[in-house]
Amino acid sequence: MKKLLLGDHAVAQGAYEAGVKVAAAYPGTPSTEITEYLSTFNDIYSEWSVNEKVAMEVGIGASMAGGRALVSMKHVGLNVAADPLFTYAYTGVNAGLVIAVADDPGMHSSQNEQDSRFYGLSAHIPMLEPSDSQEAKDFTKFAFELSEKYDTPVFIRLTTRIAHSRSFVEISKRQEIEFDYKQDIAKFVMVPANARKRHVKVEERERRLASDVNSFDINRIENGKNKIGIICAGAVYQYVKEALPDYPVFKLGFVYPLPVEKLREFASNCDDLIVIEELEPYIENALKSNGISVRGKELTGLQGELSSEKIKEIILGYKVISGKEELPARPPVMCAGCTHRGIYYVINKLKLNAAGDIGCYSLGCNEPLNAMHSLICMGAAIANTHGMEKAKGKDFSKKNIAVIGDSTFVHSGITGLINAVYNRSNITILILDNSTTGMTGHQPHPGTGKTIKNEQTHTLDFEALVRACGVNNVSVIDPYDLDMTESVIKEHIVKDGVSVIIARRPCILLDKTAKFDVAEIDNCRKCGMCLKLGCPAIRKNKDGSVAVDSTLCTACMLCEKVCKFASVKKVGDAK
Ligand code: SF4
Ligand code: SF4
Repeated sequence: MKKLLLGDHAVAQGAYEAGVKVAAAYPGTPSTEITEYLSTFNDIYSEWSVNEKVAMEVGIGASMAGGRALVSMKHVGLNVAADPLFTYAYTGVNAGLVIAVADDPGMHSSQNEQDSRFYGLSAHIPMLEPSDSQEAKDFTKFAFELSEKYDTPVFIRLTTRIAHSRSFVEISKRQEIEFDYKQDIAKFVMVPANARKRHVKVEERERRLASDVNSFDINRIENGKNKIGIICAGAVYQYVKEALPDYPVFKLGFVYPLPVEKLREFASNCDDLIVIEELEPYIENALKSNGISVRGKELTGLQGELSSEKIKEIILGYKVISGKEELPARPPVMCAGCTHRGIYYVINKLKLNAAGDIGCYSLGCNEPLNAMHSLICMGAAIANTHGMEKAKGKDFSKKNIAVIGDSTFVHSGITGLINAVYNRSNITILILDNSTTGMTGHQPHPGTGKTIKNEQTHTLDFEALVRACGVNNVSVIDPYDLDMTESVIKEHIVKDGVSVIIARRPCILLDKTAKFDVAEIDNCRKCGMCLKLGCPAIRKNKDGSVAVDSTLCTACMLCEKVCKFASVKKVGDAK
């Protein structure tokens, strides 16, 4: 039977068919759908872990115990998970461990363009890269076999276009595989004396794999009439086939280790060789260092995604006319009624500097709010603010605030808070608790009291937790109450020590079936104050007055609170 599956779903299907027992992840676009899909299978234990490092440690535990495990994350999450992963590359596995990592060339929803292929190289872990959903499933199953055969974790690398594209996949039955748990101190306890011996085994394994990889048929040569050969993998293979149908192609299934001898043979039959790859010159440099002459980044550049049009332009010199109409630029905005909007309105009004974090609330950096001034990575806001205070002193801190979401706080903000208290910081932290992981599509987390399967579980008590970390100045506010928000921020920001304000109101989109009443504007005096909220439901008329789009408005009534002329009122009955 064939099914139309997303690349992410196909990885999950492959893991299911391979008999995976445990799946763990932290949600992150474009990898989120892998674990969401796995959670629909009852034979698999699946979880949203609090962060990628924990997910990796859960997967490692399952693998050591004898159950196959899949751990998934986006590229930046792999940095968080790298610590246990590098050591598990040394110990090797019991049952297979596969890590699905999804890169985001073009940064559709990421803070950097990161090329995870280098993790294969630096952690000494084999990496496979599929080019469609069928391969995503097949490669995942193969990865588990490799993992056990070569005693190593194995990567499946996706990029956004493969993770989020659909193609047909042949569905097979699940295979039940379980290994006995055997204590093995020399293998699994990485004290230096054992680790030194395991490092030797890692090198042996790599040499074996580097030789065997030349005979794996997931790397293949496709002949063509042209004398210029193309080397590619992943989504780029699809672009190449469309743009250059007559060119001979070396399609890589393994991106680490590379099948160098097979590539050398391919090179000897071509007059010229071009590596087409997104992001870094990873394949190009590897071939050059093996004495194979290729061109690559001098043609394709280092940034963003490729496409068949771009490849035609680069290789064939075509100027492609897309025929698509130019669409107006539409920057991302917080939703109408977003619970974060009022917070940023007040931060802007008080002229505070805000060190932000990753989540929907990152959009507070945009016009007209302009109220988030730095963003580095998941969980960084609190420690960044602490560092600012240590560099600039207490007075600077009175104009400085850390802003972090609830899921991000649990992910890796808690350690920053403990550090700030321990190191006698003088900072104010706003935890924006909208009771969900909003940006990746409303996944639950420990603060929501729900598991991935929507089962009830313990609810993390943020106030109690923050107090247990040593914070005495704790307030809870309603972010729709602008007066309260302003006065509580003003009160806390001048205090010595660490202050925490929890702004609590569930994300406006959480109840998708809810019906709201709406705001209406009467006798607008054209002062423009409500426009400073940046609510997409408020539009400006040609005469300078404003109106509310009732199809978007959720009656949060922030515009009523900022209107000095009482022009806004609520209409209709909420159901
Ligand atoms: S009440 Fe005002 S601020 Fe709130 S969603 Fe409606 S238009 Fe936007
Ligand atoms: S704040 Fe009131 S008066 Fe000013 S533009 Fe908005 S609705 Fe009109």
